Amino acid sequence: MANRFTIGDLEVLVVSDGEAKAPGTVYFPASTNEQWERHKRWLDHEGNVVFPFTCFLIRSGDRRVLIDTGLGPAKMFVFTGGALMDELASAGVKPEDIDTVFLTHLHVDHCGNVALPSNGKMTAAFPNATYRWTTAEHEFWKDKSDIPNQEIDLPGMFEAVAGRFEAADDGAVIAPGINVMSLPGHTPGHAGVILSSGGQRAFVLGDAISCPVQLEETEWSGMGDMDPKLARQSQEVVLREAEGDNSLVGAAHFPGLTFGRVLRGDGRRYWEAS
Ligand SMILES: [Zn+2]
Repeated sequence: MANRFTIGDLEVLVVSDGEAKAPGTVYFPASTNEQWERHKRWLDHEGNVVFPFTCFLIRSGDRRVLIDTGLGPAKMFVFTGGALMDELASAGVKPEDIDTVFLTHLHVDHCGNVALPSNGKMTAAFPNATYRWTTAEHEFWKDKSDIPNQEIDLPGMFEAVAGRFEAADDGAVIAPGINVMSLPGHTPGHAGVILSSGGQRAFVLGDAISCPVQLEETEWSGMGDMDPKLARQSQEVVLREAEGDNSLVGAAHFPGLTFGRVLRGDGRRYWEAS
């Protein structure tokens, strides 16, 4: 399943590598079942928040930029990933067609398809791509040998893309109409992407916001936020921007493989799929 959007001249293909789920009260430890009563539209029938591993493929002129790569074959709890390559193939996209891979951050559900094991060695999955993420993110993870609870060969991944890595910090132009926006907090160097073309604008938030419910319940921090206070500040900055000019907003784990808009009702913001 994939969805297509256009932002001015940019063509966006939204695909998923798989999904994870967790009870709402577990993922957001500050939340209670009673509070979730008014947010049931974000839960499945078992009370779980379902998080797709959304990847955004953007075509800008002759450039093809992939934002985030999903979980891939890595093992993490009972999450399922590994669909990205087939999803891209179904859309007529070959791994060698991608010229840039930008990761919003280096959690395994975003970097799982950067490099794949082949003959006992990690090999870059997109052979012609430059791999990009922020300097702060690189510095934080580069010497880590593993991520707690997340089975991925991080040193092997770094080695596989060593000659192809190029940092992309706040404001960097990844391709025409595709710019990096620093949104730290979820991880130290977490960043989103701003797509702009022909007077239209869309934000790809990565994990700056994990679930749309956070627009309504601003004090709920997701389990994965390393610095909840800083994450909260980043959320406020980007939501104010998006609300101000009716920009589209998409994120790695929002439902529906879609963009939506930040609207306001009863004095609170909320996200509505477009
Ligand atoms: Zn994530």
